[in-house]
Amino acid sequence: MSFWRDKRVVVTGGAGFVGSHVVDILKQNGAEVFVPRKRDFDLMKLEDGLRCFLDAKPDMVIHGAAYYGGIWINQVHPGKIYYENLIMGANVIEACRLAGIEKFVGVGTACSYPGYLEGNLSEENLWDGPLHDSVRNYGLTKKMMQVQCWAYKKQYDFNGTHLILTNLYGPLDSYNEQRSHVVAALIRKFVEATLEDKLEVEVWGTGKPVREFLFVEDCAEAIVRAAEIYNDVEPLNIGTGIGTSIRELVELVQDISGFRGELHWNTDKPDGQMVKILNVNKMQGTLNWKPPTDLRTGLEKTIKWYRENKQEADARF
Ligand code: GDP
Repeated sequence: MSFWRDKRVVVTGGAGFVGSHVVDILKQNGAEVFVPRKRDFDLMKLEDGLRCFLDAKPDMVIHGAAYYGGIWINQVHPGKIYYENLIMGANVIEACRLAGIEKFVGVGTACSYPGYLEGNLSEENLWDGPLHDSVRNYGLTKKMMQVQCWAYKKQYDFNGTHLILTNLYGPLDSYNEQRSHVVAALIRKFVEATLEDKLEVEVWGTGKPVREFLFVEDCAEAIVRAAEIYNDVEPLNIGTGIGTSIRELVELVQDISGFRGELHWNTDKPDGQMVKILNVNKMQGTLNWKPPTDLRTGLEKTIKWYRENKQEADARF
């Protein structure tokens, strides 16, 4: 019998990018899922979080809600990103403690890692140096959730875990120009260029940075597996362990979308961290699992979805 049958789970951010895929998998496995919406529960307020958990009486809370985005939104909204994620994380965890929730799963980010280390980032590296300037406001707030779980375990025997997600892409991502991460941004630019017969597409930076890209449906599967199996306060990386340069990514998206024009590399736009790849040995051992979707297949699925849902996708912030 499935672990999830009749389990009650609150997924914050369950209507968002990663969260909605997590909700789908939980429901397929027989869980009863409750997604708090902002109009009913403002998770920036401790009392709203507590009311939500006392009403829904979940066995587990997966905290996926966040205000985040790609390299550009971190430059134009750094304060909002900092404040909202810090306060929301602190209050959601405190509300879980007050409501006596059995298990808390915090969804974190690879931006929490030191920004200037060499090699793939292992869980033990989390405190080995300063964060990259482009994401320190976001990365630190997420890292504080892990610190809070650690402190609450010591004092209250709180059962909290922290998952560190790499760069994601897929259906239901933000395709908004200001907010999007690189994959969604490129998909929108190249698809629009083919629809409008444009001769040139602008891409940012030098193309040299290297990122790891995980298909969101694989990521959601990893989160659900970890929520079932992993009960340690120390973090767990979720990724592919495979690096791809931005230049290679651009060529792939260009090829799949069928754009035949020129590229303009705008080097006035930032590169960000030069290399960001996770070491996924612990993930593979703990979850006994590897992400099944390779980058080309994931991009093909995403581009197909984007073409079929362009209007709705463009309207999401
Ligand atoms: P990061 O992983 O936090 O740095 O965030 P992004 O996913 O936004 O950016 C990753 C890399 O892609 C950076 O080096 C960007 O300069 C590069 N990039 C190239 N073209 C674009 C684009 O059109 N939009 C975005 N967001 N990034 C781009």
